[in-house]
Order: sequence, then structure tokens, then C-alpha cells
Amino acid sequence: VPPKYIRNFSIIAHIDHGKSTLADQLLIQTKTVMDREMQAQFLDGMDLERERGITIKLNQARMKYTANDGQVYALNLIDTPGHVDFNYEVSRSLAACEGCLLVVDAAQGVEAQTLANVYLAMENDLEIIPVLNKIDLPGAEPERVRREIEEVLGLDCSRAILASAKAGIGIEDILEAIVERIPPPADNIADHETRALIFDSAYDPYRGVIVYFRVTDGELNVGDRVMLMNTRKEHIIDELGVLAPKPVNVDRLFAGEVGWLSASIKAVADARVGDTITLKKNPASQALPGYTEAKPMVFCGMFPSDGDQFEDLREALGKLQLNDSALSFEPEVSSAMGFGFRCGFLGLLHMEIVQERLEREYDVDLIVTSPTVVYRCNLAKGETMVVQNPTLLPDAGVRESIEEPYCRMEIITPKDFVGPLMELSQARRGDFVDMQFLTEARTTLIYNLPLAEVVTDFFDELKSRSRGYASMEYHQIGYRKSDLVRLDIKINNETVDPLAQIVHRDAAFRVGKALTGRLREVIPRQQFKIPIQAAIGVKVVASENLSAMRKDVTAKCYGGDISRKKKLLKKQAAGKKRMKMFGKVEVPKEAFTSILKIN
Ligand code: GDP
Ligand code: MG
Repeated sequence: VPPKYIRNFSIIAHIDHGKSTLADQLLIQTKTVMDREMQAQFLDGMDLERERGITIKLNQARMKYTANDGQVYALNLIDTPGHVDFNYEVSRSLAACEGCLLVVDAAQGVEAQTLANVYLAMENDLEIIPVLNKIDLPGAEPERVRREIEEVLGLDCSRAILASAKAGIGIEDILEAIVERIPPPADNIADHETRALIFDSAYDPYRGVIVYFRVTDGELNVGDRVMLMNTRKEHIIDELGVLAPKPVNVDRLFAGEVGWLSASIKAVADARVGDTITLKKNPASQALPGYTEAKPMVFCGMFPSDGDQFEDLREALGKLQLNDSALSFEPEVSSAMGFGFRCGFLGLLHMEIVQERLEREYDVDLIVTSPTVVYRCNLAKGETMVVQNPTLLPDAGVRESIEEPYCRMEIITPKDFVGPLMELSQARRGDFVDMQFLTEARTTLIYNLPLAEVVTDFFDELKSRSRGYASMEYHQIGYRKSDLVRLDIKINNETVDPLAQIVHRDAAFRVGKALTGRLREVIPRQQFKIPIQAAIGVKVVASENLSAMRKDVTAKCYGGDISRKKKLLKKQAAGKKRMKMFGKVEVPKEAFTSILKIN
């Protein structure tokens, strides 16, 4: 297809504003998929179960559309991930487009993710087409939302499209707008050294990694020896194709086109998102801009409940890593937990996904220690140490200062909740930056906050304090010195290293109190008294005592129902497996995760 008949676009939206529903409608209206063969939300079909069987990721779709001018156009829809943990991937997907549809729920208005996505689209110089969705709802106020987008984002909304993705209203207008307003790709085919931008990749056990890319210059052919300009890896193209939206093989792809390739690549780390594909025999002189390597932001320890599963865990993590270049892991030994791994993630969601897959797909029963951000510790000797594990924080005498990562947080909320959300941000050590009235009813709040305070339960708290109405987005802004200490937990006078945390000195008492209180609840009583303490160095800041008790679970079963008794004993035995011994004390698995919920 010549570039002038191609349009490359993506859809950006706040969660639930209708991105997936609109994508489905575009596929149906262009007859790319038939309505009846349409599984609900085609581009979203990546849930855990289906993922295993599907080797091609539904992250792009090519549609054929005959426009009012009588021409047939190829419209390439490129999907973007919907979570802040994957912001870099979003920005690379947008970099592969010339324009985007900005979907805003006409009954809601601009939300934090709308802002963040629009900023990314602007950074990539995209033509933005505003779509006011859900106009079928009785509560829709397209005029108010139109004004809001103009005031808040500075986008011209005189040609915003009124639509209902659900009722199929405005879809034709959207297709025409894509053709009319989004510029075609530059005609960089002849006399250009080949370059293609990788915006996604996925591991396939049979063909190796499937790489998804946009050709920006020149052409790619089956059999070409290609080189990735940032990682310097070389591969030979086995297969080239497009998604229409089923995979279709082709012999070559030209500048302006979007497609996939396989080249017997062993792990996604060998074809990273953001890297530039060029030809070995005639390489481009410059890579496409914007490449960075995804760096883990949050670390935790993962230990098999059953020490025999250590090798299984290693193998499972290795397999996941084939498909996930942002996941890192290295062996860790804990005096309390034995052998496990210290694992790094982009954020908490990423961590939860990996944890769930390890348990569900690889059947490894895990104990996960509380997540921690990456600290920098300046030593008295003048060196700086990177600390991803609280137990490895050098002692107070050796260290000079500690720095922690900060982020800029943007909150959008109805004005009734400004008070509670400011309280929340301040309680989480936030520095107030700015407050602006978006409209009469809604406000943006901007704070600089320690990342450590955000990655725990900030989002849940924001939602509960605003009855679900506020939204948030954040990005990292560098490191700052803070008065931080290591809080150790001692059970029966033994330090339980996986429960150690780095906290602000002012919060040490509160966290220590909450933690020892929680542990007192979750640790079963034993035949002797157990002291539970939180300490900074040798100084105890909070303590609880778990009193002694003789435990007789079967006592509850008065009468002689023997099968019930047996059941209870069995349950208790299963419970035992999920316990860890610390000296003479059994600590249940939940104790290590309960820490997550304390702040
Ligand atoms: P996404 O998170 O942006 O992908 O949003 P979805 O496409 O999953 O839509 C979120 C919810 O809004 C779903 O329940 C949709 O059925 C609903 N929805 C999407 N578009 C419309 C619309 O135009 N009108 C109405 N009434 N509901 C819609
Ligand atoms: Mg969706």
C-alpha cells in the first residue's frame, strides 16, 4: 500500500471511557471482523487463560476502509497498554503512529489518565481527534466536556466527534476523520536506509519472539539479515506479516506499514521495545529516538513456601523472563526464609501479575516479602550504594545519608474531596506543588511524593476517600535525601529479616505499632509467651506480647462427629505447610503479605 493510503493511529482514553468498545466497533464497521465472529473486545483478548494458546498478540489491527472520496485506505490501529506501570510501552506505541483518537466519556470528562495520555501524544507530535463517547447516556453532557477538554488540554474541540461506541453512533464520522485529519506516513521508501521501530514483542515457544514494529524508512524482506541498533543483536527474518486482525504472512513491508516478524529470537530481551531494526548490509546511521531500557522500580523477595520448589521457581522465573524484559531476578538467601529470589518489577501491578502467573501457571506456592523501592545510600567513605533490599541497608554508623525516589503525582477530583485527598497526600509525605480549578466542579492537585508512599496502597486510599471519583497518574522525577531508617521486626527476640522495612523516621513508631499489632493477630498462640518487637538498631519503638495458650482445635467439635474432627485436623496440617519456623515460633505466610497493607 502506498503511504498516502495508509493511516496509523491509536486510541487513548482514561480507563472505562470506551477504548475497547470503540476498537471493536471500528473492526465491525470496516468488516474486518464479522459481528458474529467477534469475541467481545477483540483487542483485549489477552486474559491469562487465553494467552497461553495465543501466540500472536492482538495489539494491532489492519482495516480496509473505503472513504467518501472513493479510495480504499489501510487503517492500522495500534493498541496501547492501559496502566502507568507500562508508560514507556505506551509512548513507543504512540511513536509508531501519526495520530490518535482521544476518547473521553461525555458523562465524566477529563481524568488523570486522559491528561497523561494526551501529554504523551503531544510529545510524539500526533494529530489528536477528540471523540466524546457515551452520548447515549442520559447523563451525557458533551458541551460541558467539550469545554473542559479545550480549557484543560488546550485542544481545539470544534470538530470533536459525538459518538456512542456501544450504540454504534458516530463510527462513520470517526473513520472519515481518521482519513481526513491524520497525516499519511512520510514517503520514505526509496533511497532510505531501512529503519523500523519496535513497539511490542511477545515470546512464542515455536517461532521464538514475535516482534511488532512500524517501518519508518526503507523496507524489510523475508530473509533479510537485520540488526537491532541499541542492543547490537543480529537476526535473520524467518517470517513477516500483518494482523488483519488474523496473522497474514507477507514477503515485504515498506515504510509507513505496521507488522510483525519472527527471526528465531530467543527472548524478548533480545528485541526490546523502543529499539530500531535496520539492515545489516546497509545499516542506518542513526537509531530512532526514545529508546530506554525498562528499569525495575519495585523489588521484593520471592521464596517458595516449600524449599524443594526452589529450582521450580528458578525455572518459572526464567520462562516468564523470556517474555518480559522488565522482570529481573537473582538468588537471595535469607536466614529466615532460606533460598529464594530478589525480583524487580516496573511497579506493583507488574509484580502482582508475575506473582499470580507463578502461582497459577507454574504451581509454585510463594511467600512474597513486602515490596520496596530502590534507595541510594551514601556511605561515609564517599561511595554510593544501591539498596533494593532493606536488610542490606548499611548500619547507621557507616552511612552518611539515604536518598529515595520521588514522583510527581497529578490527581483530578470533584472539589468536594479536595480536603481528604490533600490530607492523604500530606500524610504520605507529599510536597504540595499546585492546585487548579479545571472547571467549577473539578480540581487538579499536584504533589511531589516519595515513590515508596505511592506504590503501596495510595491508589486504594484515593479511591476510597473520593468514593471512586478521583483519578491519579504519576511519573518519577529523581532522587531526594530523606531521614530514613531501617525498622527491624523481632519475634521471640529473633530478627525476622524478610519483615525489615525502610521507613521515614517519623513514621517508624506508627508503622512499628501497626505491624507488631498485626503480627500478634496472625501468629497463632503457642505454649509460651512470645514478645513481638519493632526496633531501629537496638532501640525498640513498639512491642506486643502474644500470650501463651494451649491450642486444641478439636475442642470446638463437641460430640463425636469424627469426620468433622478429621477434616479440622487436615485443615490444620495444610495450614502448617504455609507456616515458616522462626526459632521456636511458627509464622504464617500471611504475616509477610499483611505488611503490604500497613501504612
Ligand atoms: P476501556 O477501559 O476504555 O477499554 O472501556 P471499555 O470499552 O471496556 O468500556 C467500559 C464500559 O463502558 C463498558 O461497560 C462498555 O460497555 C461501556 N461503554 C463503552 N462505550 C459506551 C457508550 O458509548 N455508551 C454506553 N452507554 N456505554 C459504553
Ligand atoms: Mg479496555
